[in-house]
Amino acid sequence: MPVDATLPYDDSNIFAKILRGEIPCTKVYEDDHALAFNDISPQAPTHILVIPKGAYVSWDDFSARGSDAEIAGFVRAVGAVARDAGLVAPGYRLLANAGTHSLQEVPHLHVHIVAGRPLGPLLV
Ligand code: C5P
Repeated sequence: MPVDATLPYDDSNIFAKILRGEIPCTKVYEDDHALAFNDISPQAPTHILVIPKGAYVSWDDFSARGSDAEIAGFVRAVGAVARDAGLVAPGYRLLANAGTHSLQEVPHLHVHIVAGRPLGPLLV
């Protein structure tokens, strides 16, 4: 069920539970600002989700309420994950859904990193 990204953050969401260690994940990266793990239902040979450690619903929420340190740390973490996974060549795609029209399912900001095959034109 797509989520209304204008609602306040709800810490019962599944990624909040992963951050608290209540639900397992296949971790590929962690630092002070971000956690990255393999998507449970991969849409490409490589499909990693990167989430900030803070409680943010979407990119716009994060950019409005996140500190400069959190935002810089998260952006650096996304790049580090791509580099560490060896995705820089031949390339990868970043995607962050927000709200019902995008079919966002989990109301904790996450950036999808997809790679490992030609991805085709950007979906609209
Ligand atoms: O952007 P959206 O909210 O639709 O994506 C949620 C993603 O979280 C899905 O790709 C889904 O497979 C993934 N997921 C996961 N582990 C869970 C629950 C969902 O990797 N336990």
